[in-house]
Amino acid sequence: MRIDLHTHSNASDGTDTPAELVAIAAQAGLDVVALTDHDTTGGWAAAEAALPAGMTLIRGAEFSTGLLMPGGHRVSVHLLAYLFDPLDAAVVAEHRRLFDERLHRGLRIVDLMVADGIPISREQVLAISAGAPVGRPHIGRALVASGVVTSVNEAFERYLAGNSGYYVPKVDTDLTVAVRMIKAAGGVSVMAHSRSRSAARVLTPERIAEFAALGLDGIEVDHPDHAPADRAELAGLARDLDLITTGSSDYHGTNKTIRIGAERSDPDQLARIVDRATGIPVIGPAGALA
Ligand code: AMP
Ligand code: FE
Ligand code: FE
Ligand code: ZN
Repeated sequence: MRIDLHTHSNASDGTDTPAELVAIAAQAGLDVVALTDHDTTGGWAAAEAALPAGMTLIRGAEFSTGLLMPGGHRVSVHLLAYLFDPLDAAVVAEHRRLFDERLHRGLRIVDLMVADGIPISREQVLAISAGAPVGRPHIGRALVASGVVTSVNEAFERYLAGNSGYYVPKVDTDLTVAVRMIKAAGGVSVMAHSRSRSAARVLTPERIAEFAALGLDGIEVDHPDHAPADRAELAGLARDLDLITTGSSDYHGTNKTIRIGAERSDPDQLARIVDRATGIPVIGPAGALA
């Protein structure tokens, strides 16, 4: 069974519609795909409606969370959540808050760029995000469309990274709160790409163990940003802590170069996720795994 448990549609910062995404998943030979848009369940219904015969859909989301550090600042940590109840009041409230937070933060970034003479506009970015929670890749696409850069990746390197003068932080969900919220909504939580970017330095084995004790269910081991040594380390940690392990592409359409299904999860690990979830059912044949 070929399983990819982390993908993005244009319901967040990917470039495929949810319907295109499930079709591309089938064309790539996947049997199971999880739709995990950032801070929204907005793509679920369209993905389900377009699900090709024989394909299994795991409904999920990637929560933007923050880990509070001793100095008082927060480090960004992405938390994947699977099969949680989308009508859970805390989840609905947090997704609504993050939608507004992302909108205002995105517009502030655009305003800083416009003030510096960069030829993009608020209207352009809002047309690109088209109702999705605004993310930096939408601004990156505006920079590409205006000829400022030639790729979203270059936009990140030159204009959108955390150390850029145009960077504006957003107030993310506290990681501890998010782990508990997902559990309370019947979902299963998996720490995303913990060895990529800034989070890698602070997500020590000790800290991951603390979150395991709090109810974190798993960690993403195979991810395009993880080097072989990272994968070996995380697999060992998961064994020690009895955490679920996943492997996923983190596909974003043409915003990133990675292809859907390029990294995959083990069926036994998917069975553990399905087994543990109480929020909503799996859609499709792999639902029989539980
Ligand atoms: P935001 O959620 O607005 O803070 O933007 C972060 C998102 O940007 C991440 O979830 C990634 O999907 C995306 N991203 C980060 N770095 C890059 C990159 N170099 N190229 C394309 N997308 C990126
Ligand atoms: Fe993203
Ligand atoms: Fe992520
Ligand atoms: Zn992602």
